[in-house]
Amino acid sequence: MNLTAATLEEPGSTGRHSATESLPPSTPVLPHGIRILQNPAYNKGTAFTEAEREALGLHGLLPPQVFTPAEQVMRVMANYRRKASDIERYIHLISLLDRNETLFYRVVTEHIEEMLPIIYTPTVGQACQEYSTLFRRPRGFYISARDRGRIDAMLANWPWPDVRVIVVTDGERILGLGDLGAQGMGIPVGKLALYTVCAGVHPHFCLPVLLDVGTNNEALLRDPLYTGLRQPRLRGGAYRELVDEFVTAVQRRFPGALLQFEDFANANAFALLEACRDRVCTFNDDIQGTAAVALAGIHAALRLTGGNLTDQTLLLCGAGEAGLGIARLAVAALQDAGLEPDTARARCWLFDSKGLVVQARQDLSHAKRAFAHERPLCSGLTSAVETVRPTVLIGAAGVPRLFSQSVITEMARLNARPVVFALSNPTSKSECTAEEAYGWSEGRAVFASGSPFPAVTLGSRTWVPGQANNAYVFPGVGLGVIASQAARVTDAMFHAAARALAAEVGEIDIEQGRVFPALRRIREVSLAIAVAVAEEAYRAGLARVPCPADWRQHIAALMYEPTYPSYV
Ligand code: NAD
Repeated sequence: MNLTAATLEEPGSTGRHSATESLPPSTPVLPHGIRILQNPAYNKGTAFTEAEREALGLHGLLPPQVFTPAEQVMRVMANYRRKASDIERYIHLISLLDRNETLFYRVVTEHIEEMLPIIYTPTVGQACQEYSTLFRRPRGFYISARDRGRIDAMLANWPWPDVRVIVVTDGERILGLGDLGAQGMGIPVGKLALYTVCAGVHPHFCLPVLLDVGTNNEALLRDPLYTGLRQPRLRGGAYRELVDEFVTAVQRRFPGALLQFEDFANANAFALLEACRDRVCTFNDDIQGTAAVALAGIHAALRLTGGNLTDQTLLLCGAGEAGLGIARLAVAALQDAGLEPDTARARCWLFDSKGLVVQARQDLSHAKRAFAHERPLCSGLTSAVETVRPTVLIGAAGVPRLFSQSVITEMARLNARPVVFALSNPTSKSECTAEEAYGWSEGRAVFASGSPFPAVTLGSRTWVPGQANNAYVFPGVGLGVIASQAARVTDAMFHAAARALAAEVGEIDIEQGRVFPALRRIREVSLAIAVAVAEEAYRAGLARVPCPADWRQHIAALMYEPTYPSYV
């Protein structure tokens, strides 16, 4: 398969993808009449011009007034602003996506700061919880335990043949909300929308997949509206065989496509990553993407705290996908910065549901044991902070209020500028609020969170907390992998992504206490990350395209713009 943008370009095009550039390979005949209005990929709604209405048989099917795309955006926003709740706003936007894809991407791209929390965390969490009730039209690709033996054939039903990125979940650990079974489809759908909005990956390159292996969520199994399989989750050999068949089938149907694993439960997430990473172009965003975002935040925080990376000691609360992923990438970064492997590992501490991860513990998994250091047993977080004396405290346990006043006060006693990241999602699971972090540390904390918090004013000073959102990293990484046609995704690429993200944090962000760039700059940020990733792919010999004269120019030219094509 030719993965270059040229497959989608018409002669004489600018080189930029627009919504229709996949028309020639995938749709030899443009739908006419009512069928084009009902096809979200081609529909322009009231923006069809007089000439197009004539050519496509649309007279009478539309009100006579022709509107510009900007006017259409105005109408969408007027209705959006009238919605009473975030979930209503989510439904409004997804309904737009079902009617007019280009307009959806234009609206969201132009209002990214306002809409990211709607199409992704935290609102997508509520959407997944209510997915069966909200169900209107199917979106994405469902593969269930009943489909053993026919997955490859089924994939031929997907309407877009040139798939370059797949996000797949089995719905077992949706955000911090647990097993939502087939209702987890909201996650791959949302993440792939972010690939397009944040990094300009063409929507028709994107395939959201839900592996329905059953659910152990009793409430869903009892829900008469539940859309998934009503059976307990597959485990063991049956589970592995289904996933294996899926991985093999997508490699055959869409060779070279990037496969992103998302919101799998801890044990499966690590096992799948280990099983696939050396043979498939794949990554796990919960493990590796989160790690890169957190590391970028630490790099940027050093501009406020004044230290070097090699001076930092990290305490990671939650030793799951996020915590272990951060620990592993931090060790690699500390080594890169000059520390010996043992010294680097000694700087990273874990704290899980049983307390500080120390050598005396008998209950540790192999992965955690790599970070078990010599210290007495310690079950309270405040005493763990006293013992470890971290400069950076990161929460990724999904346990609300884990960072109590005494924890934050102790961090502030030990550090002039304590770095505190409360990463757990959604907002209800956050380890502490922004107000608590700033208030309990007398305004000295460098704070970031997984879900967004509003600015905090204490006395005369206002802080704008940064959001450690994975959306800063995975779309740019994906774009870099697609552009370089990288054969594999490596930790070095995530480290390069973290450095590139930190470099995008501006002086004004830093003055406001924010260690991530403003979301409205996300496309520039994703481009910078994509360049760093593609360069790393090339350096490592993993790129499968010749090195272009200028990666930035090359990748910028691949980015999709949500503009209507002309059909006449
Ligand atoms: P996980 O289930 O793999 O791990 C959770 C870990 O928390 C486990 O190690 C568990 O032992 C530990 N834990 C449970 N109770 C604890 C307690 N009282 N004290 C300390 N540790 C405790 O989950 P995960 O994928 O690592 O995600 C954890 C959280 O991080 C979720 O809320 C998720 O939404 C969030 N997260 C945020 C981001 C982000 O902001 N960018 C990215 C990924 C995950």
